[in-house]
Amino acid sequence: MGIIVQKFGGTSVADSDKIKNVANAVIKERLNGNDVVVVVSAMGHTTDNLVKLSNEITKNPDPREMDVLLSTGELISMSLLAMAIDDLGYKAVSLTGLQAGIKTENCHLHARILDIDTSRVKRHLLEGKIVVVAGFQGFCEESDITTLGRGGSDTTAVALACALNADRCDIYSDVEGVYTADPRIIHTAKKLKEISYDEMLELARVGANVLHPRSVEAAKLNNMKMRVRSSFKLDDLGTLIIGVDEMELNKPVTGFACDSSQVRIVICDIEDKPGNAAKLFNLLASEELSVDMIIQSYARNSKNTNDIAFTISKSDMAKFESIKNKINEIVNASNIYIDEDIVKVSIVGAGMIDRPGIAAKMFDTLASQNINIKMISTSEIKISCLIEKKYATQAACALCSIFNLDGAEMADVKGDLPPV
Ligand code: ASP
Ligand code: MG
Repeated sequence: MGIIVQKFGGTSVADSDKIKNVANAVIKERLNGNDVVVVVSAMGHTTDNLVKLSNEITKNPDPREMDVLLSTGELISMSLLAMAIDDLGYKAVSLTGLQAGIKTENCHLHARILDIDTSRVKRHLLEGKIVVVAGFQGFCEESDITTLGRGGSDTTAVALACALNADRCDIYSDVEGVYTADPRIIHTAKKLKEISYDEMLELARVGANVLHPRSVEAAKLNNMKMRVRSSFKLDDLGTLIIGVDEMELNKPVTGFACDSSQVRIVICDIEDKPGNAAKLFNLLASEELSVDMIIQSYARNSKNTNDIAFTISKSDMAKFESIKNKINEIVNASNIYIDEDIVKVSIVGAGMIDRPGIAAKMFDTLASQNINIKMISTSEIKISCLIEKKYATQAACALCSIFNLDGAEMADVKGDLPPV
């Protein structure tokens, strides 16, 4: 008998009927002969509503109290699910992050898991119980409650699966798996039967909202098999996330994602001398501002200055505004230009390694649509381009078509595309 960890997202536990549906899914797995540990998110939009509520009290909530508040959402869903399982005649016990032994860093709102003491979970499994654990939370020194960052229940589930040496971690939500592109934009996007950890990690980082990137990172490190599947279609196996050597890489590009959560900042006319970039990015780091794409222009003017452009998350704009003057002081910029009208489009595929021409094909495709590229960044298995926001759908259609990520003709896209 193995252990399966199942995680159910907010939409899967949004109301009492859905919680009863989840109880059935849990029991179905149990009847397969497995021990089952279930991780739950808060019901529906509970966490958003808790954030709103705190904003009504103060614009600057204490992070410790914020974590206490945010952790409550998952307590509601875990207890209701344990009741629903009991009601179907199976024994269940719900555990908070602290009770489940999930120890985190001593930091609030985005703590990382350090260690899990699985003894209590294992004891309950031995007693024949189904264990329901609150996602997204843990504890730090002095048993204070911490949370793992929005969407963190996926990471709770994978971390528990690894600590328990589970056979697999199944992430259930309202989507049926991982798609080649967002099916809300590309209606003919294809569901992937499997995808490698690296590709999934890149897709999660560049804006595919299917999984918390840290959960994929943890699964990759521990070689834990993950499945993304729907809680409303229990017979559908969804998408399996596995190591790259277990699959064949016959396609250069596996997926497309689009991220409109970033802002481009251009710091103009910084003197081209050693240390200026270091000063600028150290200041950003000291404010915990994480930067994504970075471009430094080539200094070719008589003033010997260049521009440094980078992107940050929209949610960090308030922090950025608070250090804008300081930036001006330390690097003596002539202007700081903020561009919110952008979107980042990315293609991802482990098969692009050692296959020249993929970047050229992406740029050609955007050019054929008359779309200007404002910034480019790459990794071994990803190419991202920053473009004007109004072109997001057009770029998505063109790129998905050229890289065979959809199943249809590009009916709604103008212009000629280069042959595949
Ligand atoms: N409830 C938390 C959130 O909404 C954690 C999660 O759902 O994964 O971000
Ligand atoms: Mg989620």
